[in-house]
Amino acid sequence: MTECKEAERLSAYHDGALSEPSRIALEEHLKECPTCAAELARLERLSQLIQTASRPEMPPQALERFHRAIDLQPRITAMHVAEVFAAVAASILVFSSVCLWKMSTARADTAQIPVWETVAVAPHDPSGVAAQEQLARWIVQDLSGKNGHD
Ligand SMILES: [Zn+2]
Repeated sequence: MTECKEAERLSAYHDGALSEPSRIALEEHLKECPTCAAELARLERLSQLIQTASRPEMPPQALERFHRAIDLQPRITAMHVAEVFAAVAASILVFSSVCLWKMSTARADTAQIPVWETVAVAPHDPSGVAAQEQLARWIVQDLSGKNGHD
């Protein structure tokens, strides 16, 4: 590894990725720094070696396995997105149905509560003697089997 801090930019210089002022500054530095000049030469040799190296051919069986592996990968297609949306819509429908069913059964339960129970738990004026008498009458009627509609 080189000691010069300018060596960090050599790879970018070699790839032509430096801005114009940075490139000019580094070229000036390369004239004075044998370490960076040697490192750049090494990068160029390495690059040349990679470009001229022969690439081994992939055996046909390996290529076939490679294609099969890609085909087995799950793909996000329009059909897949539609399936996800359908599943979400179905979930919302089931949830809404359960909520509606619960609301309707709750209403049915309320309808079965005797009038006197509703009046007994509802806030009322304690000084209203007539209301208390009416409440007592409803309780007696309900407990004796009548439902107070006479
Ligand atoms: Zn240097």
